[in-house]
Amino acid sequence: MKIVDIGVRVFRHVSTQVRDSDGHSHPGDAHDARQALLTITDDDGSEGHCLSPVQVVRPHLIDGFVRHVLVGQDPFDRERIWQELAHWQRGSTGQLSDRALAIVEMALWDLAGRKLGLPVYKLIGAYRDKVPAYGSTMCGDEMKGGLATPEDYARYAEWLLGRGYKAIKLHTWMKPVSFAPDPRMDVKACAAVREAVGPDIPLMLDAYHGYSRSDALWLGRELQKLGYYWYEEPMNEASMSSYAWLAANLDIPVIGPECMEGKFHTRAEWIKAGACDLSRTGVHDVGGIGPSLKIIHLAESFGMDCEVHGGGAGNLTLTAVQKNGRWYERGLLHPFLDYDEVPEYLNARPDPMDADGFVHLSRLPGLGDDINFEYINSNLV
Ligand code: MG
Repeated sequence: MKIVDIGVRVFRHVSTQVRDSDGHSHPGDAHDARQALLTITDDDGSEGHCLSPVQVVRPHLIDGFVRHVLVGQDPFDRERIWQELAHWQRGSTGQLSDRALAIVEMALWDLAGRKLGLPVYKLIGAYRDKVPAYGSTMCGDEMKGGLATPEDYARYAEWLLGRGYKAIKLHTWMKPVSFAPDPRMDVKACAAVREAVGPDIPLMLDAYHGYSRSDALWLGRELQKLGYYWYEEPMNEASMSSYAWLAANLDIPVIGPECMEGKFHTRAEWIKAGACDLSRTGVHDVGGIGPSLKIIHLAESFGMDCEVHGGGAGNLTLTAVQKNGRWYERGLLHPFLDYDEVPEYLNARPDPMDADGFVHLSRLPGLGDDINFEYINSNLV
């Protein structure tokens, strides 16, 4: 078995999400958007696919690095291929991102699953076939009836419970919202949601990522009083010692790191330094499923849960093969958007959730995305 080709299809679709000047997603008017599909083909014609943001799989990255490493290799030699790509990152002067590694690696998993007729989570070794989700809100905004006030968050939390979610995570207000960041407003939103859902629903906060130590500590102590389950990224993660200090001063579990570079190496350092109580990985943050499994197993070895960051088929796969993590992050959610709507380029959502808040794993061979190839091929850019 040999890889013979790597291709990228860029296609257009309609999106109702826009990004603000700091990169946070919000509801917006329907507009033309672009997405990419990376495809790896082997010499018997088998294919593996992975959806990607267009900029992550730009042609010069595919030609300069990915094709160079992959062509001629056995597509089942995922670890060696991944190590070689990771080695190339240094020489790529930062152009070959962990996210690009993740897209390529997940396409290899998809190929293996399709070839063997197995969903990837069964191929790895499943722990469960359905995973409880937490509803993860978008960041706050200034839209009337959106997520503009603590009362908006409370009302939306009630709606989420009605939809079946048994846990909720708030992203509160961040720049460029005019009054953000403000820890007092964060606490008001967190208190309003706790009041709305009652004492038994696990709640989490992903706070503004740049608070000072004193603001982060004050906010954490308020969350403790409200019985929140975890406290996520209130400060810049580049300062690991600030997180060790915060975790030592709080009872509420501190989770992280989420966005720090360094893959499993960084997660190991955080655990060793006592900078987190819950570890964190996500396929796009650390270079794919393989490196995420290393982090999940590392955390398990320390008796620690590792909660998976972000949604999609790859992250859902991780949550189905671990014992030491409670939830799948379903989102980002907003009162003006219907998350359950199926994107035009898929035949079904990869993360369908039932009325009890469980997301069910796809039984299709491969990663779990039911791709609408007809749509993609008719909308190529
Ligand atoms: Mg986060």
